[in-house]
Amino acid sequence: MKRMKKLAVIIPCYNEEQVIDEAYRRIKIVLASVPNPSEIIYVNDGSRDRTRPMLNELAARDADVKVIHFSRNFGHQSAVTAGIHHCDADLAIILDADMQDPPELIPEILARQEETGANVVYCVRRSRVGESRFKLFSAKLFYRTMNAMSEVEFPLDTGDFRLIDRKVMNEFNRLKEKGKYIRGLISWIGFNQVPFFYEREARIAGKTKYSLSKMLQFASTALLYFSKKPLKMVTGLGFLAVIIGIILAVWFTLGKWYGFSNAESGWTSIIFTIIFFGGVQLITIGVLGQYISVLFDEIKARPEYIVDEARNFCNDNN
Ligand code: UDP
Ligand code: MG
Repeated sequence: MKRMKKLAVIIPCYNEEQVIDEAYRRIKIVLASVPNPSEIIYVNDGSRDRTRPMLNELAARDADVKVIHFSRNFGHQSAVTAGIHHCDADLAIILDADMQDPPELIPEILARQEETGANVVYCVRRSRVGESRFKLFSAKLFYRTMNAMSEVEFPLDTGDFRLIDRKVMNEFNRLKEKGKYIRGLISWIGFNQVPFFYEREARIAGKTKYSLSKMLQFASTALLYFSKKPLKMVTGLGFLAVIIGIILAVWFTLGKWYGFSNAESGWTSIIFTIIFFGGVQLITIGVLGQYISVLFDEIKARPEYIVDEARNFCNDNN
């Protein structure tokens, strides 16, 4: 008889005390309905509320709940990364703690994997409810800009909610970069990837844990790690500036010779030129600086996250 594939559900949590119990209840009902052996891996990303004791309580009660506590907040992408690093199952589903990605879809996602034999089933948001207009607009703009800028093609409107198999996890675990844009990296890994369409729901409780600064950080990691186009664009801007400069030089020289331009009274054009070229230079230096800061972070080679404590793993330290 064929061995049933083991399934792990990976859940990053940051200050999610309001949703943990309800999420656990819903996920357990779903996992009980599938034939696969399963477990839940919670990654507590340095929460400051009651998330930690609540997860410890679940782990004490249920041996199929594994918990990793970070030493501080390292960010959503690092939490998911730690979940994948610590996962020994055949299949993993990445899920948000707030139930925006409904766990009730797990059986259908598993069936889609089974029927297609795909290595990745990525979930595409057909609609999203309960989110601010700004979030919807910025997300739409972000995914479209990323596709235009990136060297890798990404499916649109897809978050980290997806199923990945052992093969993909093994390749993911070989990636050495610390700045992670996980959905991009999984697209980049390749193999057979198929979509699964769903409606994204509203958070069951609490507020978004993605502040504006976290969103900007996330977007800039995605762009800087997946595109060299900003460098090419500022180079283009430099060339454009040089061409404008040459045209102006020729225009004023001829104007002086033939008397059709009165260059002495050109205060406006001088100020404009200084500001324009100054701006071009600052933007170029800024873009270069962004890439250098990525190099700086990567070359330091600090670990991507620090685990304070792990529970219910075979050789954990509790
Ligand atoms: N999260 C995390 N670390 C962070 C921010 C968020 O682990 O620094 C988790 C959070 O607990 C949730 C998931 O990442 O499970 C997605 O976050 P959230 O729902 O707040 O983001 P949104 O859906 O609003 O984009
Ligand atoms: Mg959410």
